[in-house]
Amino acid sequence: MESINVLMTYPMNDYLEQQLDKRCNLHKLWTVPEKSGFLSVHSNSIRAVVGNSIVGANAELIEALPKLEIVATCSVGLDKIDLAKCREKGIRVTNTPDVLTDDVADLGIWLMLAVLRQLCQCDQHVRSGKWKNGDYMLTTKFTGKRVGILGLGRIGMAIAKRAEAFSCTISYFSRTEKPETKYKYYPSLVHLAANSDILVVACALTEETRHIINREVIDALGPKGVLINIARGAHVDESELVSALVDGRLGGAGLDVFENEPQVPEELFQLDNVVLLPHVGTATVGTRQAMADLVIDNLEAHFLNKPLLSPVV
Ligand code: NAP
Repeated sequence: MESINVLMTYPMNDYLEQQLDKRCNLHKLWTVPEKSGFLSVHSNSIRAVVGNSIVGANAELIEALPKLEIVATCSVGLDKIDLAKCREKGIRVTNTPDVLTDDVADLGIWLMLAVLRQLCQCDQHVRSGKWKNGDYMLTTKFTGKRVGILGLGRIGMAIAKRAEAFSCTISYFSRTEKPETKYKYYPSLVHLAANSDILVVACALTEETRHIINREVIDALGPKGVLINIARGAHVDESELVSALVDGRLGGAGLDVFENEPQVPEELFQLDNVVLLPHVGTATVGTRQAMADLVIDNLEAHFLNKPLLSPVV
C-alpha cells in the first residue's frame, strides 16, 4: 500500500497513525491549515478515507475526492458517513464491529451501578474528607432491576447477558423481534420505557432514531427510572432530558455520549443522580488497538483485491 494516499480525518489513535504512516502515504486532515486548498491539491490522489465517530465522510468530502474507493471508519457507528452517497458512487465502507462490544457493554453495566449506587459521589465523599463527619446516604439496589434495551444488536445483547448475571429482567425494543432470545419484546418504545427501571440506549443512530428518546419516552420511564446512553448523544432530545432531570421527572441518567460533544449541558454538573463520561465506551488500549488493526486489515484487503473483513457497503 506504500504508494496509496490515505486521508485520516481526525486524531483517533497513535497506534493507528503509526501503522498507517508505515504502510501508506498518510495525510492528516486535522493538521491541514486550509482544508479546501488541501483537498483540491490532493483530490485526484486520495483513494481511502479513515474516519471515526467524530469526523467521518460526509457528502462534501466524498464529492471532493473523485478517486475515493473506500471509507474505513474506526468505529462501529456509521452515522458520520453519508452511506447513500457511498452507494451511489460505488465507494466501499467498512467499520469495526465486535472487537469493541465487550468494552461498551462493560461500561453500560458500570454506568447502571454508578448511577444507582452513586459511586462517583461516594468516591468524592471519601476524597473530600466528608466521611469523617458521617456515612454516605443510602442508595438504590441494582440486582433484580427491570432493564429495557433499545437496540438488541451486538452491544445490546452483550449488556443483556451481563445484566442477567445481576438477576435483572431483560426486555427490548428493536426494529425486529428476536424470537431466538428469551427476552420480552415490546413493539413500542414507550411501553418498554413504562415497564423498565433502567432504559439503555444501544441502537444505531439514523434519521429514524434521532431524538427517539423524547419527552414521551422520558415521562414513561418516570421519576424512579434511569436512562443509560452508551450509543450516540443525538438519540436523546437533550434539552428534554435536562429538564426532566432538573424537574425530578426522571430518576437519573448515566451518559457516555452527548449531542454536541465535548459540550455538555452545565445544568447536569449540579446533579447527584447523573454520571457523565467523555465518550469512553471503547477507550481501552486493547480495544483501540484491535479497532485500528481491523481498519488496517480492511484497507489491505481492499487494495489487495481480497474480501473485506467487515464490509458495510
Ligand atoms: P448493531 O449490532 O448494528 O446493533 C444496532 C441495533 O440498533 C440493532 O439491534 C438494530 O435493530 C437497532 N436499530 C437500528 N435502527 C433502529 C430503529 N429504527 N429502531 C430501533 N432499533 C433500531 O450495532 P452495535 O455494534 O451493537 O452498536 C450499536 C451502537 O452503539 C453503534 O451504532 C454506535 O452508535 C454505538 N457505540 C457507541 C460507543 C461508545 O463509545 N459509546 C462505542 C461503540 C458503539 P435490529 O436488530 O432490529 O436491526
